[in-house]
Amino acid sequence: TCSKSDCPKMSNTERTFIAVKPDGVHRGLVGKIIARFEERGFKLVALKQLTASKAHLEVHYQDLKDKPFFPSLIEYMSSGPIVAMVWQGLDVVKQGRVMLGATNPLASAPGTIRGDFAIQTGRNICHGSDAVDSANREIAHWFKQEEINDYASPFINSWVYE
Ligand code: UDP
Ligand code: MG
Repeated sequence: TCSKSDCPKMSNTERTFIAVKPDGVHRGLVGKIIARFEERGFKLVALKQLTASKAHLEVHYQDLKDKPFFPSLIEYMSSGPIVAMVWQGLDVVKQGRVMLGATNPLASAPGTIRGDFAIQTGRNICHGSDAVDSANREIAHWFKQEEINDYASPFINSWVYE
């Protein structure tokens, strides 16, 4: 713990990997998705647009490689640009998942990203890490260390956190 106003509490340094999938980019939902995380009070520490290779996505989704939908998932995710982001804040991994909604958008509550903007699982517009361990693995897979901006935000430290 640190008393300086620009020094975040250790618990506020959790990070998660959030991505707008190709359908979200094509549908012009990038800004809306970013806005929800910004408005919640989380801190954006990395962002880039890229079209991911199948090999890169096969590693990202390595835990799903035996699933029947794996080939179509890799096809979908490599079909166009993705907006890849790292968001930081207290409990951001779990809160990010809540904000995304359920994997199947028809099971997602209105007010969640998928519940407001998507209908089918194979076009669910966004990705979010499901645990702190997978978040760390995914962040290292998508971003170089120098692409992540470790900056102080005194406003967030004082006015988002008590
Ligand atoms: N997916 C799919 N069919 C399924 C389950 C998942 O096409 O039956 C896709 C969907 O795009 C999902 C992704 O595979 O977001 C990864 O699946 P996971 O179970 O990890 O869901 P998530 O963590 O994205 O909610
Ligand atoms: Mg997942």
